Amino acid sequence: MRSVELLIVGAGPFGLAMAAQAQADGVDYLVVGKPMDFWRTNMPAGMFLRSACDWHLDPVGIHTIEAFLATRHQRPADVEPLSLEFYLDYACWFQEQKGLVIEPVLVERLDRIDGKFQAQMENGETIGVANVVLALGFGNFAHIPENLAALLPPGRYAHSKDLVDFAPLAGKRILIVGGRQSAFESAALLREAGAAHVHLCYRHPTPRFESSDWGRANRIVAGLADNPNWFRDLSDAEKDDINHWFWTEGRLKLEPWLWPRINQPNVTLWPQSQLADGQEQADGALQIRLESGASFLVDQVLFATGYEVEMGRVPLLARGNLLAELATSNGSPRLDEHLQTNIPGLFVTSIPAVQDFGLFFGFTISARLSAQLMGRGIQGRLANRRTTTTEYTG
Ligand SMILES: Cc1cc2nc3c(=O)[nH]c(=O)nc-3n(C[C@H](O)[C@H](O)[C@H](O)COP(=O)(O)OP(=O)(O)OC[C@H]3O[C@@H](n4cnc5c(N)ncnc54)[C@H](O)[C@@H]3O)c2cc1C
Repeated sequence: MRSVELLIVGAGPFGLAMAAQAQADGVDYLVVGKPMDFWRTNMPAGMFLRSACDWHLDPVGIHTIEAFLATRHQRPADVEPLSLEFYLDYACWFQEQKGLVIEPVLVERLDRIDGKFQAQMENGETIGVANVVLALGFGNFAHIPENLAALLPPGRYAHSKDLVDFAPLAGKRILIVGGRQSAFESAALLREAGAAHVHLCYRHPTPRFESSDWGRANRIVAGLADNPNWFRDLSDAEKDDINHWFWTEGRLKLEPWLWPRINQPNVTLWPQSQLADGQEQADGALQIRLESGASFLVDQVLFATGYEVEMGRVPLLARGNLLAELATSNGSPRLDEHLQTNIPGLFVTSIPAVQDFGLFFGFTISARLSAQLMGRGIQGRLANRRTTTTEYTG
């Protein structure tokens, strides 16, 4: 059986940043997973990012987005807002420059046997490992409210992560349920792909089309590197206040460049509305009724209703023997200041860390911080192990 000191599961922004940190620390690591697969497969082509060049991936600050731009004789103003394609190119360049060790294979199940982890890979290989980082992102946590799904015939709706190719929807009428950036951006892209009409329905007022100011978030995340317990030690009221502020910047604002793409005769906004019914007609169309009584016909419903963490839904954990032992609250793992769970050597980052570290962990702003914090925890564990081994063999 092959064995490594650190297995990083997931090769998205958080996994790649962790790999760069491990490499800088001289840790024997392996990353498994298809690089940037969620961004390639579950985000719509043509999407623009909300984040800018400063949210790069390198915890040691060398292979930044600005360094990438320098190779192309460009400046941030030439490329912002960043397109999805640009960000994927940057991530590819980052992997190459760092020479990261990535195997594009999925982990089927993860177990702990006699205090050591065993990762069963989809290709049949088993890897023995002392430390595991789960950097699995959003993919397992797509959320469609059950009460809304129950109103529609099966097969007539999809979550926004599963419907990203809009070309087949040319000429179709679409209802998007959800009123945040991803809902509005999908509406713009659907219309541009030739959709006949796009309806957006959401419970709240229409967010403002205004640039977000991430300055405070950048300062908080930088501070967490030196004081990782800062957020965790706040009172619930103080945490709510910070999360509310971040929510206001991130969710109650829409990028201003979306407005002219949305303000079109074949896009209808239904603010402060809730889906009430969706009945299939004889010709196959869906007759949509909103709680306000408004009614219209569509061909497809798209739920841009976000993500909800529930560790029990992570397949590699559900198939293995760790779930019963894993301490969670509200579905998220309980983490220490190194993002380590109560199971020694098992680290979890990205959106499952939001509960303990703040909403910042739902964005790539935290990828470098996460790598630095976990890097310290892993270094500490390896140093302990080496000391123990030396003492034992000596
Ligand atoms: C529509 C949308 C737009 C967004 N826009 C922005 C933005 O503009 N700026 C920003 O900062 N953030 C944005 N985000 C948030 C961003 O996507 C996340 O912060 C980021 O992707 C998290 O990175 P990650 O590495 O944890 O996860 P991911 O990028 O999701 O990567 C996780 C990887 O793990 C892999 N994986 C899963 N299971 C296994 C397994 N069993 N074995 C091996 N590999 C596995 C997956 O294939 C995936 O590639 C957006 C999110 C969405 C949904």
